[in-house]
Amino acid sequence: STKRCSVIIVGAGVSGISAAKELSENGVDDLVILEASDRIGGRIRMENFGGVSVELGAGWIAGVGGKISNPVWELANQSGLRTLFSDYSNARYNIFDRCGKIFPSGLAADSYKKAVESAIHRLRNEAANVDEPATTPKTPIELAIDFILHDFEMAEVQPISTYTDYGEREFMVADERGYEYLLYKMAETFLLTSEGKILDNRLKLNKVVREIQQIRDGVSVTTEDGCIYEGNYLILSVSIGVLQSNLISFQPVLPRWKTKAIEKCDVMVYTKIFLKFPYKFWPCGPGKEFFIYAHERRGYYTFWQHMENAFPGCNILVVTLTNGESKRVEAQSDCETLKEAMQVLRNMFGPGIPDASDILVPRWWNNRFQRGSYSNYPIPMINNQVVHDIKAPVGRIFFTGEHTSERFSGYVHGGYLSGIDTVKALLEEMKIENKRSSESQTFL
Ligand code: FAD
Repeated sequence: STKRCSVIIVGAGVSGISAAKELSENGVDDLVILEASDRIGGRIRMENFGGVSVELGAGWIAGVGGKISNPVWELANQSGLRTLFSDYSNARYNIFDRCGKIFPSGLAADSYKKAVESAIHRLRNEAANVDEPATTPKTPIELAIDFILHDFEMAEVQPISTYTDYGEREFMVADERGYEYLLYKMAETFLLTSEGKILDNRLKLNKVVREIQQIRDGVSVTTEDGCIYEGNYLILSVSIGVLQSNLISFQPVLPRWKTKAIEKCDVMVYTKIFLKFPYKFWPCGPGKEFFIYAHERRGYYTFWQHMENAFPGCNILVVTLTNGESKRVEAQSDCETLKEAMQVLRNMFGPGIPDASDILVPRWWNNRFQRGSYSNYPIPMINNQVVHDIKAPVGRIFFTGEHTSERFSGYVHGGYLSGIDTVKALLEEMKIENKRSSESQTFL
């Protein structure tokens, strides 16, 4: 017969690991963590590329410098993680047109100001349900700025809790151990580790959960390789994209209020494409780290960054695509993508620049354990009921993950805090159940 544990945690990303740590600290040690992939970290993922460590998933600690300290910033400081301040404010003065000319700074500043004002206006109207025809961005520079403001969630347009609570600064992780080192440091406090490896057999890798069944006083889980695990409770930390897919089936099926809420949450796809060059041909002085390409197609290889500040001499550029462009690029060969990116770079820097010697294209949308990059609750529609329902437990199944964070969805700190929050709710439930069962025993 299957040995039953107290809590099964599905997923070993930041929320799953922080939940497990919180449980351990509260004396609940008989837990099992089932992770579909062969590593911990989830959407925090470092890979070696072109001689350095690049972050395919989360790359920044967002929300630093305010009155309250961001808990992930604290973890980073405790672990001695190497980070660099990212100053995006100059990006608007490095906007290239299709002929490689940089827009004059006056025009760029003016377009930026107008775009911010019009975006604020649009949001206010949407929130108030006013149906006034909005001015839509049309010219390449307007489209480029609109992309930066919205797809990158710049704080100027809307009060985002991450920035209002923790401060407006962002720090990029540039550490050879990767952002994921923070997760390892967390895991080390409660799991058996040795020489950088987790040896604890409560962490089970390559276990793809396919079915979650509510049984008498507990939960039973079946994995793709046919194993069965039983627990008194289950914490489910898979992404909103995975919840929307049919990877996991539930018995009995999830109630309608739950599936409706899950369907309402948008999934954002965010793709950082890395390109390695034999030498650098882009400007590297102060204020040049970020640059923008203005094209008539919104989001077409718009946002660029050189990695010289992070790793001097690495000769790597990163370009970020989102949503439709991400999906389009995921579906084509990397060779095609390389050709497109090179054409854009030649438009900006001239025909004489060298070809990239290597390319890395992450595929978050087509990864069946992710199905996207992060949750995106549309601001005017932010309706606490949706987040509330996404987070609310169903019987003995408790939900966690960045998408369950009311204030910080979409961020690493959202995932981290949600793990702790979910465990607090679960511990309350366990207390009530213990009380109930001891009362019924006294009665007997
Ligand atoms: P995940 O990390 O997705 O963890 C869930 C785990 O569940 C995964 O390990 C997955 O493999 C596993 N799983 C899925 N299905 C199953 C199954 N059936 N059975 C078992 N296991 C399963 N945040 C920031 O703060 N700053 C940034 O700069 C930033 N940039 C980002 C850039 C990109 C490209 C991406 C993808 C994300 C970015 N984020 C950023 C968001 C941040 O990475 C996430 O919010 C956070 O890591 C989510 O953690 P999580 O624990 O909620 O989910």
